Amino acid sequence: MSGLVIDPKKCTRCGLCITQCPFNAMAMVDGQVQINAACKMCRMCLRNCPSQAISEQVDAPQPQIDKSQWHDILVYVEHSDGRIHPVTLELIGKAHELARVIGQQVNCLMIGDHIEQAADSLLDYGVANVYLYEDARLQYFRADNYTEVFEDCIQRSHPAVVLVGATVSGRSLAPRTAARFRTGLTADCTVLEMRENTDLVQIRPAFGGNIMAQILNTNHRPQFATVRYKVMDPAVKQARIGKVVSCPIDPAKLNSKIEWLKIENKEQEVSISDAEVLVAVGRGVKDEKTLALIETLAQKLHAQMACSRPVVENGRYDVRRQIGLSGRTVKPKLILTFGISGAIQFTAGMKGAEKIIAVNTDPQAPIFDLAHVAVVGDAGQIAENMLKEMEGETVCSAN
Ligand SMILES: Cc1cc2nc3c(=O)[nH]c(=O)nc-3n(C[C@H](O)[C@H](O)[C@H](O)COP(=O)(O)OP(=O)(O)OC[C@H]3O[C@@H](n4cnc5c(N)ncnc54)[C@H](O)[C@@H]3O)c2cc1C
Ligand code: SF4
Ligand code: SF4
Repeated sequence: MSGLVIDPKKCTRCGLCITQCPFNAMAMVDGQVQINAACKMCRMCLRNCPSQAISEQVDAPQPQIDKSQWHDILVYVEHSDGRIHPVTLELIGKAHELARVIGQQVNCLMIGDHIEQAADSLLDYGVANVYLYEDARLQYFRADNYTEVFEDCIQRSHPAVVLVGATVSGRSLAPRTAARFRTGLTADCTVLEMRENTDLVQIRPAFGGNIMAQILNTNHRPQFATVRYKVMDPAVKQARIGKVVSCPIDPAKLNSKIEWLKIENKEQEVSISDAEVLVAVGRGVKDEKTLALIETLAQKLHAQMACSRPVVENGRYDVRRQIGLSGRTVKPKLILTFGISGAIQFTAGMKGAEKIIAVNTDPQAPIFDLAHVAVVGDAGQIAENMLKEMEGETVCSAN
């Protein structure tokens, strides 16, 4: 990193740099020229100052870290009272793929109370070590003492990579822990690749999904990445080779400023991420009659309804039904889309579907590039025809 310094003894306050700066990054404040955060280091002021009052200060290069001190891939185990969230198995599956490239192993971190059995079950997925932190004060997620424990586990195991599910608690815990190691974190990665030198290539959509950014954290360890549920393929069972490592922790670190007053179990929410069959509607479904027809079709297919973002924005559906970059990721066996154009921000959330049937009046609609079956036609008309075709049938599934 470098920055500019203005020598007040040389500066004549002529103001030339202020008028010339293309980014409005300079101003006269209390009789001194100051440079603010808008500076893009174009160096125009440096070149043009008639008094050579501006100079560049280059920070000393950072020492290179010793990457050999950081090894293996650590997966944070998301669970509720020992019931392991399926995103954990997806992360373990991806971790094995990455670990194979560098000839290293996959470890897990599990935090809670009375969860030894659940921790042991992870050994069925080829995990080498499950670092287990059990204590009554860790029974429920608390951002502060969980971060302490996470830090302790990283100090103990020195992982090259840490993978965390992009769940509500994962999104809180991962950045807090990464900050303790002054290292970077890439949120919502859609692709992860490993280089032989243990640098993790973290790929995710950026700038509203218009580019796929490749992010590297070449001089910091560990490398933190969060991944959403249903983005990676789950691990498969394999021979047990590992062990559960019970980890002691300094009791002072278990104190928390957060107090659990009461636990109320929410009614189990059926998530579109778990659905095997989905029917998704978009802006092209314009009237209530067409929507009602499509909802009837969904019922007959035992499908859940989902939608694109405009349908949420116009208040027709709840945001939990939205597929896409700012919605949920889905991987159903079958998805039917009606009146959805196939913008990249939508398809980013459903391109892993096994079978895609798209209905659109526009034969050039981008959704057809992805669809296995493209139906050019009016959403209402096609839904009506499908319902007629299905009349008399008692069973219809995606299999
Ligand atoms: C940062 C960012 C994040 C975003 N995140 C998301 C996200 O998570 N999810 C998401 O969905 N969008 C997201 N968007 C918005 C996205 O860019 C698109 O605007 C949106 O997906 C378009 O939704 P749509 O396909 O329903 O509507 P449109 O793009 O308006 O498409 C409507 C389609 O319906 C067809 N049609 C019209 N009439 C009929 C008919 N009678 N029968 C059949 N077809 C018909 C049209 O030909 C057209 O293709 C995001 C955008 C940004 C910038
Ligand atoms: S151009 Fe140089 S001398 Fe003039 S105000 Fe800027 S820094 Fe000072
Ligand atoms: S380096 Fe460029 S952007 Fe920065 S203050 Fe000078 S002229 Fe402005």
